[in-house]
Amino acid sequence: MLAEKKRENTRGLSVSKTVADYRLWRESAFQNAETTPTIGVVPTMGALHIGHQTLIEQAKRDCDLVVVTIFVNPTQFGPGEDFDKYPRTLETDLELCERIGVDCVFAPSVDELYPDGQTISTVEPPEELVNRLCGVFRPGHFRGVATVVAKLINIVRSDFAYFGEKDYQQLTVVKKLVRDLNVPVTICPVKTAREQDGLAMSSRNRYLTEEQRKQAPGLHQTLTELKRDVFERDVPIEDAIKSGITRLSDNYGFAVQYLEACDAETLENLDEKRTPMVFLVAAKLGAVRLIDNLVVR
Ligand code: AMP
Repeated sequence: MLAEKKRENTRGLSVSKTVADYRLWRESAFQNAETTPTIGVVPTMGALHIGHQTLIEQAKRDCDLVVVTIFVNPTQFGPGEDFDKYPRTLETDLELCERIGVDCVFAPSVDELYPDGQTISTVEPPEELVNRLCGVFRPGHFRGVATVVAKLINIVRSDFAYFGEKDYQQLTVVKKLVRDLNVPVTICPVKTAREQDGLAMSSRNRYLTEEQRKQAPGLHQTLTELKRDVFERDVPIEDAIKSGITRLSDNYGFAVQYLEACDAETLENLDEKRTPMVFLVAAKLGAVRLIDNLVVR
């Protein structure tokens, strides 16, 4: 019902900068619909690219209304990380959202989401999930992610929320949070969108020099070889990971933070192959930190 209405509607994109404005938009969208519309939310930090677009398009296929949130969340950046330098391209983000048929963008300021500054209640994901992989190199990061995701889900009140497999540990933390706190939303994972040479799309890829951009696909290449070693050549996981780390640094110039094989549901470390399993990697090229993963189902 609403889908038909949407096709002929020329209201275009609505942009809410405050929680109050968003609530008004939601209320009027519900009033204008003949049957209760379903809402899908795509939480982002902006600097939108085709990876984000894949999530938005999945949400459009599944839901009557699609809300994109754009918020560079300070609580998930540690001291010395790139919060100040993180790309902010709101105007072009809004143009993209309008062009691909997003219904509403919620783009609050930091003060709007954190009016009490640092004095806030936080969501604490379980230690086992966050004291490893990216959590080791970014202490407090997943507390910030879980807290802002809980806030955004409470504000948007959507039926579905879309998260990329690109940020696999984040997706796992969010699924766990929704399950543990009985948050009434369905989490929908979306496969990683890649450049033709295999590099996972990311807002941070723009910081790579020409030379680094040529080395960067080595991350996906190494994960693919690692999977082949373990699953087709029966190389023991420990040995395959050791040679993966060597390949990343010697062949492509990466400073490796971690390369691990984990259970794809719990992220528990695995030393024997089994499925579903995920190989996860984080590595730096100069100052640019890249992450990627490969799921074996
Ligand atoms: P970000 O703006 O980087 O916080 O990402 C917002 C959402 O888009 C997260 O759920 C990411 O996992 C997802 N995302 C980012 N890059 C990609 C990609 N290359 N493919 C699929 N999803 C992605």
